[in-house]
Amino acid sequence: MRINLKISLLIFLFSSPFSYCENKEDLFELYKELHSNPELSFQEKETSSKLASILESSGFNVRRNFGGNGVVAILNNGDGNTVMIRADMDGLPVEEKTGYSYASKKKMLNEFGKEVFTMHACGHDIHMTVLIGTAQKLKELSPLWKGTLLLVLQPAEEVSGGARAIIKEGLFEKFPRPDFNLALHVSADLEAGKVGYIPGWAMANVDSVDILIKGLGGHGAYPHNTKDPIVLAAQIINNLQTIVSREISPLEPAVITVGSIHGGTKHNVIPNEVKLQLTIRSYKEEVRKQTIEGIKRITKNLALSANLPEELFPVVSLKDEYTPSLYNDPDLTEKIKQSFVTAIGLENVVKVDPVMGGEDFGMYGREEPIIPSSLFWLGSVEAGKYKKSLSGDFKLPSLHSDLFLPEPMLTINTGVKTMTQAALDLFDQ
Ligand code: ZN
Ligand code: ZN
Repeated sequence: MRINLKISLLIFLFSSPFSYCENKEDLFELYKELHSNPELSFQEKETSSKLASILESSGFNVRRNFGGNGVVAILNNGDGNTVMIRADMDGLPVEEKTGYSYASKKKMLNEFGKEVFTMHACGHDIHMTVLIGTAQKLKELSPLWKGTLLLVLQPAEEVSGGARAIIKEGLFEKFPRPDFNLALHVSADLEAGKVGYIPGWAMANVDSVDILIKGLGGHGAYPHNTKDPIVLAAQIINNLQTIVSREISPLEPAVITVGSIHGGTKHNVIPNEVKLQLTIRSYKEEVRKQTIEGIKRITKNLALSANLPEELFPVVSLKDEYTPSLYNDPDLTEKIKQSFVTAIGLENVVKVDPVMGGEDFGMYGREEPIIPSSLFWLGSVEAGKYKKSLSGDFKLPSLHSDLFLPEPMLTINTGVKTMTQAALDLFDQ
C-alpha cells in the first residue's frame, strides 16, 4: 500500500513539475517578479502582501503582518502531524550585475535613510517561490495525507531579527505547534537538480562584538606623553588569534574575525580611541561562551599591561543581534534524505559539510520543548557553469555576490519536489 502510494505520488510529482497559482501565473513568472522587486530586511511589505494573497487564493488560512511583515498560513487537513515550512523574504543592499532581463534595478532607503540598490543576492526569491509551489502541490495532494501544514514567510533573515519577531509574537502559541520544522537554502556551489543534507550541526552561532579601545591622544612625535590606542588595538587583534588556536579544543569549530578597525585622522596625531567590529562563530554554547570570555579577558589584561587606568579599559559590547547555531536533528534529517531520494533519485542527493555561516532558522528549533528541525541546501548552479568551475576556468559567484543568479527553473522544480515529498512523508497517510 505504502509502495503503491509512493509510486503514484512520484508519477504525480514528475508529471506536473510546475504548480500553478490559482490565477494561472506560473512559478517562474512569480520568481521573476520577486527577483525584480527585492525588498530590504524589515521592509518586505509588497513581497509579503503578494505572497499572502496567493496563499489566500490557494485556499490557505492566512495571517498577515505577523511579527512585522511575516505571513503565517495554515492548511488544516485532519488529524495528524503538524509540519512547518519556513521561507525568508528579504533582499540585500547589493547592486545587481548579472545583466539578466529580469535583474533588479530597484532602490530603497536603508535604515540610515540612504538610497541603496537592492538585490535578491541570497536566493530568498527562490525560497519563497518553492514555498508557494510546495503549498499548492500539497493542497492538490490533500486527499493523500492527514495533518496540518504551517507555512511561515519570515522577514528580516539577513539582519537576524525576523525569526525572533515571529516567535515573540507567538508563533508556537497562537498556531498549532509543529512536530517538525523544515527549511531550505539555495547553495551557490551545488549543481541545480541536486540537494545537500547535513545531519547535526549545520550552521554556526553568530555573535557581533564591538570593542572600543581607549587611550590618551597627543602628538605623534611625542608618543611617551600619550597612551596609544592604535598600538593597543594591534596587540589585541594579534592576541585574539590565540583564543581559537590555543584555547578552544581543535575538535570544536570556532572563528573570530576582526572585520573592521577605525581610528585616527592624520599621520602625526595619536587618537583617543580605536573601534573594532568582530564577528564570532561557533556551534556549541560552551564554545561560544569561551570565545566571548576570552575576548573580554585579553582586552582587559592588555590594557592593564599598557598601564591604562581602569576608566580607560576597553569596552567590549556584545550586540543583541545574536543568531543561534542550527542543529539539524539527525533522525529527521535521515528521514527527509530518504524523501529526497524518492523525489529526485539517489544520485542527486549528497551529504555536504557544515559551514560557519549563520541562519536564523536555527531559532525555531531552540524553543522548549525542542521541535526537531532540519534545513537542507538546494543546488542552484547551472550545469555548464558548474563544470567550468571544476576545471578552474570559472569562479562561481558566492551568495551575496552581485553576480549570483541561480538556474531558476531546475532549482525551483527540485525545491518543490523535494520539499513536497519531505512534508508528505512526515504527515500521516
Ligand atoms: Zn544571506
Ligand atoms: Zn539567505
